[in-house]
Amino acid sequence: MEKLRICFVTSEIAPFVKAGGLGDVSQALPAYLHDRGHDVRVFVPFYSRIDTGLSDFSAVPEVRDVPVTLGSSFYSFSLFRAPLPGSGLPIHFVHCPPLYGRPALYSQDPDEHRRFLLLSRAAIESCQRFQWAPDVFHCHDWQTGMIPLMLKSGYAWDKLFRNSRTIFTIHNIGYQGVFGADILPDLGEGARAFLDAEDLAGGRINFLKTGLLQSDVLTTVSPTYAKEIQTPDFGFGLDGILRMRSGALTGILNGVDYASWSPETDPHLPAHYTAKTLDDKRKNKSALLQGLGLDPDPAPPVFGIVSRLAYQKGLDLVEEAAPYILSRHDARLVILGSGEPKYEESFRALQARFPGRACFYSGYNERLARLIEAGGDMFLMPSRYEPCGLNQMYSLKYGTVPIVRKTGGLADTVTQFDPDTGTGNGFVFEHFTAEGLVWAMEMALRLYREPKTWRTIMKNGMKEDFSWTVQGELYEELYARR
Ligand code: ADP
Repeated sequence: MEKLRICFVTSEIAPFVKAGGLGDVSQALPAYLHDRGHDVRVFVPFYSRIDTGLSDFSAVPEVRDVPVTLGSSFYSFSLFRAPLPGSGLPIHFVHCPPLYGRPALYSQDPDEHRRFLLLSRAAIESCQRFQWAPDVFHCHDWQTGMIPLMLKSGYAWDKLFRNSRTIFTIHNIGYQGVFGADILPDLGEGARAFLDAEDLAGGRINFLKTGLLQSDVLTTVSPTYAKEIQTPDFGFGLDGILRMRSGALTGILNGVDYASWSPETDPHLPAHYTAKTLDDKRKNKSALLQGLGLDPDPAPPVFGIVSRLAYQKGLDLVEEAAPYILSRHDARLVILGSGEPKYEESFRALQARFPGRACFYSGYNERLARLIEAGGDMFLMPSRYEPCGLNQMYSLKYGTVPIVRKTGGLADTVTQFDPDTGTGNGFVFEHFTAEGLVWAMEMALRLYREPKTWRTIMKNGMKEDFSWTVQGELYEELYARR
């Protein structure tokens, strides 16, 4: 396999900084590529919340106090480098305190677009200072959507990038980075020609759309989502462009980093287990129930949710289905997440209505997320849409049976259990209705009472292999394609 130079630009990377699945992918895919011998350079903002105790940070002498002008604003950035824990891969952190010295990863601040224009410019400027010509710029989501445009406009003069190709990955088409057309000067000279004229006339600039229009290759994070986003129901207004570019679009399922997400080794768990020692999984269930102050009886099943509390995640169905299920069945529900206040309020009310049986933990908590994966019996993901979804793949590995809506990556990873044949790894409902979710939850509750059958479902899930060794190779093929 040809060794490639890959410039990987992202707004998140676990374990340093993560809001969702993008953070996990940005950690695991470059680490895989590095292990395969490719020269991968990852660029990410040096957000002030990054814990520098996680790795060994050092300044990169060639890239210090580099001036960058965005419209009428002047910035300068410096580069820091730190090895990715668990891998030798050095990560490049773009240090620019006026833009990244803020409490939140993403903001509603008026200069939000500049925070990610600077990241994009810094990645390109750093390549220039390294005199390093990437074979591929791999861009992720709207935050890096302007890189292909920059290479065609402001940096078109630089022969260093003559053979560089651009790959743009859509992790979620629901977030497009749409700003007023008054930011046009921030994109630099020559940008106008590469922007959507209709948007400009309408007073808008759309970062994600620009990425879709200007990149050589497009990918998204599951085969089903690649099809869905070409339809008006899932395309968030960009389905027409995606149909036009369908020849350039591939769906590659995200992989799972089983070195980090395995019940055999996960250091966050009180008890480790395998498919052969499933009784030890119960210790995690007890720890979960006790830790959250729930009724400690280990017999009733526990439904778990770990999620951003966002429209996409279909939590409206949980609001409706959960009281129905909890009033008719002896079951527990544990929800971890933060986000839209309306969900936070209703889950708080649910907890108050079912004391000792329902628990809502508001916030972001890695340890609890993993304990829910390990200590739960079933995992709920009733998403409206789900580009890939990682939690259902984690729950499969942890023997916690997923109950999902048939959409995007959920449809590609979870298969309906069939009691006649003993095949299938979870429960899948099709229509986005509370009845659909209740149907799937009640079927799960019924089969949970048959221990032998339930073990079969758990084991079917634990056997699944969504590792990066399979998915990473698909990216390598794409990178190498000319
Ligand atoms: P998305 O990227 O849409 O948020 P994914 O399922 O692809 O959804 O990835 C979510 C990732 O974020 C998982 O690793 C999950 O464990 C983690 N996560 C989400 N919410 C929380 C939370 N409140 N606390 C801890 N981890 C969370």
